[in-house]
Amino acid sequence: MRKLFVGISKMWGVSGVPGEFKMGAAMQSVNSFSNAWLCVEEGVIAGLGGEEGFFGPESLALEVNQFMESLYVGRTIETPNPIHAESDMQFEIVDLGGVELLPGFVDSHTHLVFAAPRWKEFVMRIGGESYETIAAAGGGILNSANALQAMDEDALFGQAATRLQLMIAHGTTTVEIKSGYGLTMEAELKMLRVIRRLKLAFPIIIQSTFLGAHAIPLEYKEQSDLYVDLVINEMLPQVVAEGLADYIDVFCDRGFFSPAQTDRILKAAKAVGLPSKIHANELGLTGGVEVAVANGSLSADHLEYCGSHEMDILRNSFGSEGGGTMPVALPGTSYFLGIPYAPGRAMIDAGLPLALASDFNPGSSPILSLQTIWALACTQMKLLPGEALNAITCNAARALRLENNVGMLALGMRADFFTTDSPNAINTIPYFLGYNHCKQVFVLGNLQ
Ligand SMILES: [Zn+2]
Repeated sequence: MRKLFVGISKMWGVSGVPGEFKMGAAMQSVNSFSNAWLCVEEGVIAGLGGEEGFFGPESLALEVNQFMESLYVGRTIETPNPIHAESDMQFEIVDLGGVELLPGFVDSHTHLVFAAPRWKEFVMRIGGESYETIAAAGGGILNSANALQAMDEDALFGQAATRLQLMIAHGTTTVEIKSGYGLTMEAELKMLRVIRRLKLAFPIIIQSTFLGAHAIPLEYKEQSDLYVDLVINEMLPQVVAEGLADYIDVFCDRGFFSPAQTDRILKAAKAVGLPSKIHANELGLTGGVEVAVANGSLSADHLEYCGSHEMDILRNSFGSEGGGTMPVALPGTSYFLGIPYAPGRAMIDAGLPLALASDFNPGSSPILSLQTIWALACTQMKLLPGEALNAITCNAARALRLENNVGMLALGMRADFFTTDSPNAINTIPYFLGYNHCKQVFVLGNLQ
């Protein structure tokens, strides 16, 4: 039966057109309905409306109005009209009781599957060591790789599932998860299989990314091209053969993979039909943006270093229909490592679109709530609350090329959303930092 959600004082992120994402000044706009309703059929939005109008078939809007009138005629909202027997119901009615409602968050960049927290490095950094120094000493990603190689698949899955449950409880209903703590064929495949198990176990959309080129293993330190060969010639074909990845990713930066090595990997992936996303410009102006755009990558993530040259290249990538390398900022990493924030304000002012993600991982961003990322984007990057909301919903969906499915409340899109008791939610969620504003989370119209 169709579900009709009512008792919504404000519904944010509504759109008449599915598949929208926002650039430049348009990023400020967040459309909403007051005293709204949302109709869901088979997990998909069949219509939505409020005082300002409706999106969907006119016949449905009429039916909803008549139904609501008949249901509540001469009664209060607490005591529906008893003439409706269960079998006469045109809709299963879900009265949310006066909440505000937002589209579920899209986290387009996470490292959710990992074996062990890295709180020792957290303490070392407080003592003055840099992320690069810790990485050079065999800590950092290589530390995670050692722990991961030693842990079995069931244990990894159990830990990851617990974290994912927490993410959902904080409003995230679409998540991308990367491999990259394996760094051997066997361990990378183990990570990707864990992600596949998560996909089967959870109703949310989970996208999987092969990040074999996340760091150079110690034994390849002096011959990193050989490790690139291993990624291209051995790991990639196996990952593709088992259908384990939706995207490929490369950490292109100083001390990691060069633009030339990145280019080789992205071209090899493209040849087997795997779209790419990259870690770019976290540690300097190191050529990541150029190689990403040249290869038609779906997104370039990090961008703590991004000048007007890089911004021009990124903006120009959006010239053609369906194209564009989405810049993705990761303010959780900047906060946690004490490095500069991506110049998100300047990017939007330069007419660019921008997405934000958690980068949730044990070494550089142990932050799984996109509500926290939203707040950091506002206070530290000077994004307006509405801009940051678009950056963690529709624009993040675009970074995954899922903008026709998630990231907005529009006809034909998935009924993934959450409710909150925080009035004027798009301003108060990033304002009251440090607690979970989600009241209930729905995936495909079902309460989680
Ligand atoms: Zn990352």
